[in-house]
Parts: sequence; structure tokens; C-alpha cells
Amino acid sequence: MGNIKIGLEVHSQLTNLNSKLFCSCPTDYRGKEANSYICTVCMGIPGTLPVLNKKAVEDAILIALSLNSKISDKMYFFRKNYFYPDMPKNFQISQYDKAGGITLATGGYVSIPNKKVRIRRIQIEEDPARITYEGTIYKSKSSLVDYNRAGIALLEIVTEPDMESPKEARIFLQKLSSILEHLDVCHSYLEGSMRCDANISMEGGKRVEIKNISSFKEVERALNFEMTRQRNLLIKGISTKMETRHWDEIRRVTISLRIKEEEEEYRYFPEPDLVPTIITKEWVETIKDKMPELPDAHKERLIKKYELSPQNADVLVNYKLLGDFFEKCAEIYYKPGAISNWLVGDLLGYLHEKGIQLQEMKISPVHITKMLKMVDNGIISGKIAKTVLEEMIISGKMPEIIVKEKGLIRIHSDELIEQLTNKVFEENKEAVNDALEDEKAMHYLIGQVMKLTKGRADPELTNKVVRDKLIEHKKLLEKKN
Ligand code: ZN
Ligand code: MN
Repeated sequence: MGNIKIGLEVHSQLTNLNSKLFCSCPTDYRGKEANSYICTVCMGIPGTLPVLNKKAVEDAILIALSLNSKISDKMYFFRKNYFYPDMPKNFQISQYDKAGGITLATGGYVSIPNKKVRIRRIQIEEDPARITYEGTIYKSKSSLVDYNRAGIALLEIVTEPDMESPKEARIFLQKLSSILEHLDVCHSYLEGSMRCDANISMEGGKRVEIKNISSFKEVERALNFEMTRQRNLLIKGISTKMETRHWDEIRRVTISLRIKEEEEEYRYFPEPDLVPTIITKEWVETIKDKMPELPDAHKERLIKKYELSPQNADVLVNYKLLGDFFEKCAEIYYKPGAISNWLVGDLLGYLHEKGIQLQEMKISPVHITKMLKMVDNGIISGKIAKTVLEEMIISGKMPEIIVKEKGLIRIHSDELIEQLTNKVFEENKEAVNDALEDEKAMHYLIGQVMKLTKGRADPELTNKVVRDKLIEHKKLLEKKN
């Protein structure tokens, strides 16, 4: 089968800013009343002027540096003209790399296993408004528009078509989002903060673009669908058309939006209301000085300092919040191996299962370390700890409270376990006789005692009590004979 080439165009909001790209409207628009975070500037009222947000440029430069890109010493803004309700001005203030335009940065790469995905260019632009369609985009009779998002600072990162499978595209996006998370400039967990267009072409076919995919998981799905669709066409001898398609998340298919013979014509022209931005070497140097630890160095440090497995370290780096959480736990109770296993395994698994975001969970590092200490001190079993963990995540209660409320403390009392063992022996006479010869039957009896205590009986103690009881039983039988 022919080669596959995949390129991505990622739109990433700069989420760590207090105001929009060209006005002083606030940026925490999520969940707010529609069209309440707007002003004359972001609404494009004639006579108003945009003022460039300096911090946005600094955050963008930091990102470009982290992607090994070359920062331009001068950049321009352009008007990208199009007629659509998501832009009140009928143009988007963006950047352009043709017609004398220079974008923020060019070149660079992101390392993923066995390859470097090259970056073509990085540009700053304003986010359009949010449009909600009634039903689906291609059948919708009406749509709602919320301008709160219009004018939010957005970074467009365009890659070369260096990815060779949908999975590789997902791995690239994960790495990119981890880098942005480490820089603390884009929080990809915020709804719609990272959006992606993908283009895919197969040997013998034309380039197809898939627009506005909402999440990384969806990118891989959309590309997989598109790969199969194009492959089937090529097998039948039909060559794919150069077109733009829409990913329908619900039906999980791509649908043709428009066939294009050539690049769209946006009539780009220089934004006359903004002067060129001069980016001096000194300015870049002061930004470079603020460069925090990036994912690759972070992973290496976790492995060296805490002797973590590369697998666990990978997950903690991909989920930066969890990585920070891990280090706080290890500071309180130095059991890094056990802590990382609990966080990467049970905790993350439970969050995924319940669809809970990391920052939504109600627990602190103290919750985890207290729980671990209870396991290590034999107060609860590992199995019970899992129940405690899940309850902590949901309610935020401390483990000792949950254990008390639910009566989960491990039973160490010989007396109680003996009582229960007697009961089990009474009710399982046949198994008791078998157990004299057969290990399996003995484990069955132990299991019955554990079951009566809902897993709280100390397993070693239970084991001993059952064995002793069996020896006693044997002696009794021998006496009788
Ligand atoms: Zn505004
Ligand atoms: Mn764009």
C-alpha cells in the first residue's frame, strides 16, 4: 500500500492571558453568558483601533523557542478576509507568509519516538467567535453565535506532512500539548483550547483536508476513517479529489464540504491599524531565560531521581498536572514507586472511566499519602485501598474518615477470625474433608472467611487460623478411628 503523508494545523489558545489579543476584554469566557465579554474593539466597530497584547507575543515566542523555531526579528499582521458570522469585522487579524508578510516564527521541530516532526511556521491570530449549529453543520437551519471567544489570542502551528499514520499524528499532538502544558501557556484540558485541522494524502491521490476536529482522540479517528475511505477509492481506481471535509463526530464519518481546485482566496492584505512588531534579540533572550523544564528533561529527571519506570514517567509527563501531584506526594511520603503506580494505574483509570478531569478531582497529595500509609501499616488491604481511593476522588473525604464510616478497617482479631472460621467449617463440612488432602479446597475455605468479612480479614492471619483448624480437625478424625 502506498505511503501516507499527514500534516497538521493546530490552533492553540494562549490561555494564560488576562485579556484578549487586541482589547482588554477578559479571557475566562467559558461558561459565561453569551456575548457578555465583548467591546467595540473585538466587535470591530468602525473608528476603534486594536492594541497588541505584549504578554501574548511573549507567550507565543516562548512556545516558538520550545519548538526550536527561528523567531523573526520583525513581524506583520494581515487581514484575512472572509464573510462568515464568526468574525464581526468580516476579516480575521492574522499573519501571512506571502506578499511581504512575515509570521512570528518559521522552522523547528517536535521530537516523537524515532522521528522529528518539522514545523513549517507559527503565527499569532485572533480566535473567531463560537458558533453552535442546530443539529449538524450541513443540515442546520439556524445557528447561534457567541462573540465572547472572538479576539482571544490564538497560535497557529503548522507542521510539514511528516507523519505517516493516524497514530503518529495523535502521538505528535500529545507531545505538543505536553510541551504547552509545561510552558504553562496553553491548558489543553480547557474545552476548545486546542483545535486541529489535518491534511492527509496517499500515494496516487490528492490532498484532503479535514476541518475543525475537536480533540486528539477524534483526530486519530478522523484520519483512520479518511485513510480507509481513500484506500478503498484507490483500489477501485478512483483518484481522490482535492477537497475539504468535515468530521462528523457522532456518525464517525467525514463529509465533503467543498471541492477546491486551488488554495482559497482570502485577499490577504497588511493590517493598516497595527505597526510592524520588532522582536529584538534582547527581548527573545529575556524570554528564553524563563524557559521551564520541558517534557524530555522532565521524563529523564523522574526516572533518575525517583527510579520510576519509563512507562510511568511517560504518563506523568503527558499529564503534567499528575506529574506535579506525584512529586508533592513523594515529598510527603517517600514511596515514589508505589505512589506512581497508584496514580498512573488506579487513579487515572478511575478518572477516565468516570470522565472526570484531573483538575476536577477533590483530593490532595495528603489524601494519597495517608491512604498509602494505611496500607503499609496493615490498617487496610490494597484491595480495600482501591475502594477508598475511588471514594476520596468523588467525595474529597480523608481516607481515615471513609474507612471509619464504611467499616473498612482490616480485622486483626484472632478471636473474631476464629469465630468466623468455625462458622465456615460448620457450613462447609464436605470442603473441610477435602481440604485435608486438597490445597484448592483449603483456599476455598479461606476465601469463605474473607467473604464473610468483605475482604477485611487479615489474609495471613486467616490463612494461619484455617490451617491450624484443619490440623485440629485431622487429629480429631484420627482419634475417632
Ligand atoms: Zn473586546
Ligand atoms: Mn488560523
